[in-house]
Amino acid sequence: MSGFAAWLKEANYINGEWVAADSGQTIDVTNPANGQVIGTIPNSGAAETSRAVDAAKAAFPEFAAMSLMDRVGLLWKMHDALMDNQAALGELLTIEMGKPLAEAKGEIAIGAQYVRWFAEEARRSKGEIVPPGVNGRRILVTKHPVGVVGMITPWNFPSSMLARKLAPALAVGCTVVAKPATQTPYSGLAWAALAEEVGYPKGVVNIVTGSASKIAGEIMERPEVRKVTFTGSTGIGKLLIRQSADTVKKVSMELGGNAPFIVFDDADLDAAVEGAMVSKFRNAGQTCVCANRMYVQAGIHDAFVAKLAEKTAALKVGDGMTAGVEQGPLVDVAAVEKVEEFVSDATQKGGRIATGGNRHGNGGSFFEPTVIVGATQDMMFAKEEIFGPLAPVFKFETEEDVMAMANDTEFGLACYAYTTDMARVFRLNEGLEYGMIGINSGLITTVEAPFGGVKESGMGKEGGSQGLEDYLDTKYVCIDGI
Ligand code: NAP
Repeated sequence: MSGFAAWLKEANYINGEWVAADSGQTIDVTNPANGQVIGTIPNSGAAETSRAVDAAKAAFPEFAAMSLMDRVGLLWKMHDALMDNQAALGELLTIEMGKPLAEAKGEIAIGAQYVRWFAEEARRSKGEIVPPGVNGRRILVTKHPVGVVGMITPWNFPSSMLARKLAPALAVGCTVVAKPATQTPYSGLAWAALAEEVGYPKGVVNIVTGSASKIAGEIMERPEVRKVTFTGSTGIGKLLIRQSADTVKKVSMELGGNAPFIVFDDADLDAAVEGAMVSKFRNAGQTCVCANRMYVQAGIHDAFVAKLAEKTAALKVGDGMTAGVEQGPLVDVAAVEKVEEFVSDATQKGGRIATGGNRHGNGGSFFEPTVIVGATQDMMFAKEEIFGPLAPVFKFETEEDVMAMANDTEFGLACYAYTTDMARVFRLNEGLEYGMIGINSGLITTVEAPFGGVKESGMGKEGGSQGLEDYLDTKYVCIDGI
């Protein structure tokens, strides 16, 4: 297929068929850069989801029994299909989500890397033979696909968030019912088109769009769905954990963050500013691992702020499809209003705007890349995820102080520190309550490593060898009398 229009699917994919909602109702999908309607998607609910679960359940035994190399071969084809269509899939992503095309194409490439990684990992998913405590016994520990997996994904990385779930599930022989975010459904539906193109058996991949509460409600209620994997806000994650109790499903939760970005006096200033720009402004600040609070030590503070503000002011804002644009629109106007609330709260409490601070002249959901200095722990962004292009800078004096401030949150996803002191790096690793720590790097997501948080940022890992484990049940067999 070529051109993004070929990948724009305006239907559910259930049991190998592209189908409308039972009611025939649809939801408009708009381009956040200009407000134009791109197309529609089915407004589905419990009934369509129920059929998707039935299809996934029916497809599971045969798919789980498919030879490993056949399953791996499908993933190789999926990887190649993604990369062959990277430009078109990237355009589709930019048009529905707003991020610059280069970032969108990068997201497609990262998704392809996850597919390849899990194809490789599946071949190394080993059991164990454990020494028995008594003679005459053998103890075997074996791994098995969990079964039907429900997947619910957010709008900020509409392609790669699904990649990190679909790839390990399909690698080990699970079947899938997925619900993409309503604002960005096409990158999710494109995975169904890819699955169809490379030849997955019908019922293995099912994607349903529409009412989140009805679709998720059905996924959570059905006992045949043995695992649910969710990426999104902590509030919805908690709801799903509660709902999972009745059928005791396994759950993986990739939830919100509130990342501290710490710059010590001994840091390489230019590298720290570079890392801060990437960590803060990628995807217009709408990533769960975005630097949310920049803590800068007193000795380097003023130099850091001057460079950060200069680089921030130079960012090119515009439609993500325009060449050279570095920051697109926010996902919607509600997101802009939220950033405005953070700005006004901070300025009322003594914060000073170093650059930006207002809606962008492009109108719509564009917002100026912003730096606020003089941030303090009583400001809203000290506690809440900003999810926008606003960098608050806090000044600190000692390592002990900053460690306490960094950990003063219920979240524990990613954090960052810039320092050249290796002894300090070990203290940070031991003291920072985060699932991921970037030392002298503002961009740490990679397929080889386990992505995931601690505390209220979630449970379970995506990527690394751990990312496969989440889709496997462990059994043991005790063979006696030998
Ligand atoms: P969200 O509102 O929680 O939505 C995420 C998904 O949940 C969407 O598909 C949404 O569907 C669905 N949903 C909404 N209400 C639901 C309900 N009652 N039951 C079940 N599902 C429901 O989050 P978001 O605003 O899209 O995404 C931003 C959040 O995701 C941030 O907090 C960010 O930190 C987090 N995130 C975390 C990671 C990570 O790996 N830890 C990665 C990316 C994002 P609709 O679109 O139809 O509403």
